[in-house]
Parts: sequence; C-alpha cells; structure tokens
Amino acid sequence: MRGAVLYAPGDVRVEDRDDPRIIEPTDAILRLSATCVCGSDLWPYRGLDAVQDPFPMGHEYAGIVEEVGSQVTTITPGQFVVGSFFASDNTCPICQAGYQSSCINRVGVGENGAQAESLRVPLADGTLVATPDLPSDDLVPSLLAASDVLGTGWFGAVAAEAGPGKTVAVVGDGAVGLLAVLAASQLGAERIIAMSRHEPRQRLAVEFGATDIVTERGDDGVARIKELTSGLGAHSVVEAVGTQESMLQAIRSTRPGGHVGYVGVAHGVELPGTELFFSHVHLHGGPAPVRRFLPELIDLIWNRRIDPGKVFDLELPLDQAAEGYRAMDERRAIKVLLRP
Ligand SMILES: [Zn+2]
Repeated sequence: MRGAVLYAPGDVRVEDRDDPRIIEPTDAILRLSATCVCGSDLWPYRGLDAVQDPFPMGHEYAGIVEEVGSQVTTITPGQFVVGSFFASDNTCPICQAGYQSSCINRVGVGENGAQAESLRVPLADGTLVATPDLPSDDLVPSLLAASDVLGTGWFGAVAAEAGPGKTVAVVGDGAVGLLAVLAASQLGAERIIAMSRHEPRQRLAVEFGATDIVTERGDDGVARIKELTSGLGAHSVVEAVGTQESMLQAIRSTRPGGHVGYVGVAHGVELPGTELFFSHVHLHGGPAPVRRFLPELIDLIWNRRIDPGKVFDLELPLDQAAEGYRAMDERRAIKVLLRP
C-alpha cells in the first residue's frame, strides 16, 4: 500500500509500505476513505519534535472495515467506521469515566501511520464507531473531522464548560479552534469570541457561530477580551495552540471562577504558580477523549445538523501529501484532506 513517511523536517514522502495485517485478535484492518494532515503533524515536520527514524505519519481516519481479528465482536467487515488517535478498550474505569484517551490499555493508532491506504486499528470494538449505513461521499470529510479535530475542539468547549448564558473565547484559529467555535455554538453559548487575524478563518469562524472576532493577541488580546466582557474576562476559554503565549493568553482572558479548556498539544508551556493561584480559574484539558463524543458527533453529522468538514479547504490525492504539509505549514490551507 501507499503511505506517507516523514524522513526529516520538511521531508515527507509517500512510498510503498507493507500492507497492515491483523496482529492482535482485537485488531481491525480498515481501507481508508479519507485521511488528513493535523496541526500536530507540523511539529515534527518543522523540526520542533525530534524525528528519529523514518516515521509513518497520520492519526486521523475514516473508512471501511476490511478484516477483523477473532475476538472482535461488534465491528464487522463492510461497515464504515470512525475512530480516534488513541485506541481504547472503552471498558476500563478510566474509559467508563469518559477519558478514553487515558485508557489503561490505550494504544497510539498514529504509530501505524493513518496517512495511508490502509490502517490497523487495535482494540477495534472499543475504538471504532460505525455509521448507520455507508455514507454518501459528501459526508466523508465531516466524518473524518470527527476522528480528531472536531472531537478535540468539542472536548475543549466541554472542558471550558461552554453552555447557555456563557461567553466563550477561543484562542487559536486552526481547525481545532474553529471547531471549538462550532462546538460552543452547539452547546448553546450566548457569545463566542474567535481570536484570529486571518480573513478566511474569521469567515469560517462566523459561519460556525462566532459572534465577535478579536485580531489582537498576547496582552493586547487579553485586554480586548476584557473590554468585550465588562472588564471581567470570558466565562469559558478554549486554548487550541499549545504555546506559552497562547496558554497565558487563555488563562488571563478567563474571569475568576471561569474555565479554561486546553487542547493544543503543549510545547514548552510552564505556568507561573503565583499568578495561577490568584487567577481563580479552572484548568482542564489534555489529549481529547474523542471516543466519548463520537456517537453524538456522528449522529449530528449524519443528520446534517453540523458540517465540520468545511475546515478542509484543500483536498489532494494521498500521493501529494508533501504538498499538503507545505500548504498547512505556510498557512495557505487550514486543513488538508488526503484521498488514498
Ligand atoms: Zn479503557
């Protein structure tokens, strides 16, 4: 099969890789209908995460089950399924509490490389959620979005306790930030402030339900949020970048008693204890337990109540993955869908 492999910063190649096969009796093999490039793939691509050996890339996937192991009971060949970047048993106490991305038996699906024609997914029964039927082609991008960016933006909004009567601010205008706007809107937030200085992203944020756009960042961004909230700060702030600046911007934009949902993968973030102590904000985040939300998200997409697939503004054949990485790295594209 064909699959994308990162050789060194800036060097992604699509090459022939071994077809995945069942290793554990709980595995499933999927033929992927669509996959994509994640903002977090840009960290190793930019050399900010170390690249050791050539590494298969991609952790977002949706497709048709081709084969299942002998212990798989609920997932069957022929089904269209969506799963998360962490495989989980969905039965342990941590999964039962809704934190499948910290499952005691979790396995990273990304190690197998989802930017490929086929993918082995461990713990298939606990990880994969099937759609009611085979989806029409126009639903595939939105179902793929549920695999990570939608689920992650959704968790950010839930962790920030977005809901009726709340003012929600979103730091970060990547696909996750934009879908956190959509999530806050679905959760009934009264006012949603998107922080973005890029016109196409601002437009999509408004389409997803943003009521205000703030172009300032850092301390100026905090001041602007305060201005918009009678000097108090937002009730709920979603942090969807993962840098020191964005994390402090999120905490400082939150009113005392408010909540920060942080879902940007942290890189070099160190929190000042004294400031945190006196801020009186709740912090909750981490790798999103996407599996918790998948049944609800698939239902919303299936019934065409939400269209998160709009974050894909560039679609390429898998063989052109390198161009997809370049387009996202240079911010020419919000998110790139790859067709195997
Ligand atoms: Zn578990």
